[in-house]
Amino acid sequence: MLRLRFHGRGGQGAKVASRVLGSAAFLDGYNAQDFPLYGAERRGAPITAFTRISRDDIMERGLVSQPDVVVVMDETLLLDPQSSPLSGLKKGGVVFVNTPRTPFETKEGYGIEDHVITLDITKVSLDMIGQPVLSSLAAAVAAKVAGIGEKALRDALKKELSAIISEKDLLDRNIEAAIYCYNSVEPISIETTEKVREKENIISIPFETALVSSPSILSRGNTPLRRTGNWRIFRPVWDYDACTKCMTCVARCPEGCIRLNEEGYPFADYENCKGCLICAEECPVGAISKVRESHSQTKEGDQ
Ligand code: SF4
Ligand code: SF4
Repeated sequence: MLRLRFHGRGGQGAKVASRVLGSAAFLDGYNAQDFPLYGAERRGAPITAFTRISRDDIMERGLVSQPDVVVVMDETLLLDPQSSPLSGLKKGGVVFVNTPRTPFETKEGYGIEDHVITLDITKVSLDMIGQPVLSSLAAAVAAKVAGIGEKALRDALKKELSAIISEKDLLDRNIEAAIYCYNSVEPISIETTEKVREKENIISIPFETALVSSPSILSRGNTPLRRTGNWRIFRPVWDYDACTKCMTCVARCPEGCIRLNEEGYPFADYENCKGCLICAEECPVGAISKVRESHSQTKEGDQ
């Protein structure tokens, strides 16, 4: 049996990716399971999804804690101790990382000892679909790694995506971008053996009396010190020549992370701005433009 685990962020399509992969495996003659695990109901929050594929009956249930393949749809998750996408990865396993960096740079940069495959599926998505839609592309890479045939993948993409995309042109572009990604990855044979990575728990709540274990959140993962703006694909940038100081963007930002400078012009706290671009959508004079984040394009990972 092959066990795959997808790590993405709310809005990136990890759940759909695992679904497309499961469907493709089924159409290719395998038994398959796929299901997601949600954390905080917030765009940008870490999301995990799982797929099991086997020629035999799948009697195993529950979360995939020891995957053979890990798909990292947002590379900043590799530095997120709450997500720890490499935990439990088996020896001989494969890590796919959505990044413009080479496999060697990625292994070196994140200290990964396992086999690493990289492809900038965000760029492919922007170039071929026109928007950062990663689900079908991540599914395609996973399908190649899992040895699923191209026809089964294409059929699964049509079946699953047509349920959520009504526009034919957009559907076709999604499928072509996915097949491009599928053909950009070399086939690989996976022979995993033992578990090599332990989960790094940063929140450990032992069983105690109710008095001791009642909500008292002390972990740094739950404090205002936690930055939540490190995964943006685009950042909002203000044009103060056009801005009328109407405050609409300030009021509409779901994160409350737009403040006013001394002249009364808005600016974003980029450490917490998640890049949803609602502010740009809502600005009545188009004073906010979107600029591609540099951390997705440079080796240094700076924002
Ligand atoms: S993109 Fe705009 S609306 Fe969205 S979180 Fe950032 S500042 Fe707020
Ligand atoms: S919505 Fe547009 S015009 Fe209004 S304050 Fe924000 S940037 Fe300026």
